Amino acid sequence: MGEKTVETSFKAPVVLLGLGAMGTALARAWLAAGHPLTVWNRTAARAEPLAAEGAAVAATVAEAVAAGRLVVVCLLDDDSVEQALDGVELAGKDLVNLVTSTPGRARARAAWAEARGARYLDGGIMAVPPMIGAPAAGAYVFYSGSGELFEEYREVLAVPAGARYVGADAGYAALHDVALLSGMYGMFAGIAHAFALVRGEAVRPGDLAPLLGSWLTAMAGSVERTAEQLESGDYMGGVVSNLAMQVAGKETLLRTAEEQGVSVELLTPYFRLMEHRLALGSGAEDLTGVVDLLRR
Ligand code: NDP
Repeated sequence: MGEKTVETSFKAPVVLLGLGAMGTALARAWLAAGHPLTVWNRTAARAEPLAAEGAAVAATVAEAVAAGRLVVVCLLDDDSVEQALDGVELAGKDLVNLVTSTPGRARARAAWAEARGARYLDGGIMAVPPMIGAPAAGAYVFYSGSGELFEEYREVLAVPAGARYVGADAGYAALHDVALLSGMYGMFAGIAHAFALVRGEAVRPGDLAPLLGSWLTAMAGSVERTAEQLESGDYMGGVVSNLAMQVAGKETLLRTAEEQGVSVELLTPYFRLMEHRLALGSGAEDLTGVVDLLRR
């Protein structure tokens, strides 16, 4: 007689508050991985498709939170989290906040949750919704706060996207998240300026795009040199394009913008900092000294 093998692997229940674009993507990933899922959303109609896919739908936040120990929050912003959880019993719960926050708000929420008897983990999602539940997309979430909570639920948290723990300080996930996003917006500013320069010329944006993309990718390697210089305190190590040369060269960029009828408003703040650093006698250094000028 052949023996039957029975699938007994336990899948931790997940409670999810918030079914916007991101929350819905998270919900689908946990459902697809077989986790029992209870969802709540302010606008109840958004939960209907997920109910059809196997999620239990709670009518209130309190009812949802009562349905499981691991409670994941993916609402719009800090204020919506505070409103939604106001007065809800959290003792014994493991609260994971995935709302984009500041380090200060995340630390305050950790203290607030711990005072209510909950363990707290804060998260910063480095992905857009289509990258969730698609391992090849390389999405991940920074987590910080309770290391015990993270270790206990590491596999559950890794279902929608990779999970990277960055420290017991609950503010560190937000700090890492915002550091990466801030770098990204600097890059977006450069991209906007580059396309503006060729607009109106016989240069197709589609032809510039691969050139600009590969140039930015090559230049992104400078983050490693910047980090080494910040750690050693020696801003002259491995310098290939010194500050004095770059300050002299910026005139060409500004004049080209003028010739092309393009505003220099995205370039000048950075150039001003370079000039300031040069005036301090740092012409032989790399651009790393700008970091110190930004610290207040
Ligand atoms: P959406 O705007 O799609 O959804 C917002 C969600 O918050 C909805 O469920 C909405 O409910 C709910 N909500 C808003 N205000 C309140 C409130 N006062 N009380 C209760 N619920 C409220 O946002 P996303 O899902 O895209 O984003 C969610 C979080 O994920 C944000 O913090 C965002 O920064 C973060 N994130 C998003 C990314 C993205 O690309 N989408 C990328 C990385 C992080 P209702 O349906 O009733 O309006």
